Amino acid sequence: MHEAVNPRRSLPAVTKVLEALGPADLPRPIIVHAIRRKLAKLRKGTGKVDFDSVVQSVAHELEQHRRNRLQILVNATGIVLHTNFGRAPLHPDIAQEIAFAASAYGNVEFDLRDGRRGSRAAYLEHNLAVLCGAESAMVVNNCAAALVLVVSHLAPRDKAVLISRGELVQIGGGFRIGEILATTGAEVQEVGATNQTSLRDYEKAIDAKVGFILTVHRSNFFMEGFVDAPPIEELVNLARRKRIPLVADLGSGALSDFSEFSQTPEPTPQKTIKAGADLVCFSGDKLFGATQAGIIAGRRKLVAALKREPLYRALRCDKLRLLALQSTVDFHLRDLTSQIPAMALLQISKDELRARAAVLFERLRGLPVRITMGRATAKAGGGTLPRSNIPSITIDIVPERGSLEAFAELLRSHGTPVIGYVSGGAVKLDLRTVFPFQDDILVDAIRSACAKMTGDAPAA
Ligand SMILES: *Cc1c(COP(=O)(O)O)cnc(C)c1O
Repeated sequence: MHEAVNPRRSLPAVTKVLEALGPADLPRPIIVHAIRRKLAKLRKGTGKVDFDSVVQSVAHELEQHRRNRLQILVNATGIVLHTNFGRAPLHPDIAQEIAFAASAYGNVEFDLRDGRRGSRAAYLEHNLAVLCGAESAMVVNNCAAALVLVVSHLAPRDKAVLISRGELVQIGGGFRIGEILATTGAEVQEVGATNQTSLRDYEKAIDAKVGFILTVHRSNFFMEGFVDAPPIEELVNLARRKRIPLVADLGSGALSDFSEFSQTPEPTPQKTIKAGADLVCFSGDKLFGATQAGIIAGRRKLVAALKREPLYRALRCDKLRLLALQSTVDFHLRDLTSQIPAMALLQISKDELRARAAVLFERLRGLPVRITMGRATAKAGGGTLPRSNIPSITIDIVPERGSLEAFAELLRSHGTPVIGYVSGGAVKLDLRTVFPFQDDILVDAIRSACAKMTGDAPAA
């Protein structure tokens, strides 16, 4: 149907466009809103309006919008804890437990023994404390929230938090530890130099104003050369002498030192608590392998005081996340750490990946693309293990026609989007981060991308 309409008088009716669009996988008000917006734009313009192109343009806009919907995808980037992909995936058993609990009630804050209101997440907090070798533990929204809570309690108005200049980490996405601390109104008192901070630097800086010492793990970078900082034990002694708490932000939440993956050992909560830190905090969705959360562990009195802060109410987790954390903590306590997906992915052998790649090649024969097996270095990601070098296997695709970028985009537009990367003259799909049950999706996506490429794209 071709209707030329004068924009000022006869724009197509919303209902007509709606009808022409046909059934769409979006709520009707969203579709109507897109149509109205398109018509409003046309109303301001001049020239003829073609009905079909209005429909097409709205359809395109809605399709782009639909792609923003939170959905699962195939991570073929080789970055295990990809922050843009939601970091750690959960174990299927835990996911199932959450799915089941989501549609029912739970004893989130209810004591089943006496039938009264109980403390929130008592089981989780207890098990977390045992896992970390701490007197007590609690959870909040994320590690940034943990820092904000700790600072607002230990360095309230007019007090300062003491931190080394070498540890003012930027944790990604433009967020800096120093700025996060400053949101509380606390003064951030920096000591030392970027590469060198001595115990004496800390000692000189401590006056009545300093509420506590914060040490932050350089989780996403490393420094080499003329670098020095006092070991945690010395900082603990100093803090004790000065009668102020020492808090360690460990960031990644590794429960082992990960020395098999990285030349720089990760500080663990257990060791840091044992060394005498009053509190530690770390992320729930990095190497700990659970969901987004900030875990705080340490002295009973301090944790209890943090839980009494009114701010805690604004930072607490909902039941679904508490459940994910609870089950993940139990996995760790039962020595099932290697079954936590983030761990399992890091530990897959190259041979296993190579065998999977061979099967995939067999299934991808005869397509108009050149497919080879490539080597790559997978990464832990998520701002963890910056020196990790995990050998991995990729499927490298060079289409016979069309650009690499276009092929990568076709893979992203698949029903379940497949995200690889373009490097060294090929579209690379790193198998380390692709779950074996997603291999079928990989094959489908490559096949349909080839079909579209030969159908739509001009010959290269
Ligand atoms: C990642 C990280 C944070 C922030 O953790 P979120 O859970 O993402 O808020 C804080 N400190 C360090 C050292 C980190 O590595």
